[in-house]
Amino acid sequence: MSSLTQQKINQNPDSAVIIDNSNNDAARLNAESGASSSPLAVTVDVDTLFAMTSSKSFIEMGGTLKRNAHATKNEVWTYFQVYNEKKFHTHAFCVLCKSDVSYGKTHSTSNLEKNIQRKHKTEYDIIMAERANKRLKIHAEISFDATSYKQKLLSNNTVRSDDYQECLVKWMVNSYQPLSVVQSDAFRNMVKALNNKAPVIGEDKIRTLLSNKYYDTMHAIIKILKGKNVVLTTDAWTSISKEGYATATIHFIEPQTWKLHNLSLGIFKKDGNSTAVDVVHYAESHIQNFNLTYSQLTCVITDTESTMVAAGCLFKEESNEAGGCTEWHG
Ligand SMILES: [Zn+2]
Repeated sequence: MSSLTQQKINQNPDSAVIIDNSNNDAARLNAESGASSSPLAVTVDVDTLFAMTSSKSFIEMGGTLKRNAHATKNEVWTYFQVYNEKKFHTHAFCVLCKSDVSYGKTHSTSNLEKNIQRKHKTEYDIIMAERANKRLKIHAEISFDATSYKQKLLSNNTVRSDDYQECLVKWMVNSYQPLSVVQSDAFRNMVKALNNKAPVIGEDKIRTLLSNKYYDTMHAIIKILKGKNVVLTTDAWTSISKEGYATATIHFIEPQTWKLHNLSLGIFKKDGNSTAVDVVHYAESHIQNFNLTYSQLTCVITDTESTMVAAGCLFKEESNEAGGCTEWHG
């Protein structure tokens, strides 16, 4: 995974929107209430259940729950149970928000996944991290080879769906394409002209693929940065339309090779004021996302604009409090 990919993903406004699931009170409440996947917590106390949620559940109508014995390897099943009673089989019970989620007669897990994504940010992040880990293991085993890819195309005259998706995502990220491009007639006609059997990909699908790519890349970067000493360059500014943005770039030298690397951790839309406190807060949340601590942060670089100068001083204080000794150059 190149640093370029990461950089571009985060700079693509569309993909930034997808991955920026803002903190959601319901999810936090659930995490704090210790809502567990224990069947006992789910079946016993109906009064507690209604105190916790406004949505009704089939439990009230005598439904009883069990683990899904036919659950696929899909990670979402960690957070769902199914009903013993056949008449309730159209729904699964979310153990986090204690409510029924419809997944139809086909028992498609995509509705269940949407519930997790919308309501339970912490658990969604866990699922995405687990998947990223699995994918990275597979990628490590099969390295992508452009030459063999071309050969396959010629010999089979079909497109392997994984290869196509991987290439499509890379192209979209590297050339800043909007999500809607995959649904445009011009794009689809071009793909069809190249190969009539190429899979048709819609906006929802590409959203998922980009989101997966973000988590994969983030995971890979966390591994790279583990235990490294890094330097942070940060800046915040306000756009013409009066929207605030903050960015964080990490530099580090690979100890074995002395090679200098840089990674953009992201460019994020801010909702706070452009004060020093706010800038530091944003930069801290960026570096925390990548499991970096002040003890690894040897230096922070800013420009000499007064807010950033104040932010620089604040970085030093915060670092001291956290047991670090971060320098500031502005
Ligand atoms: Zn839920």
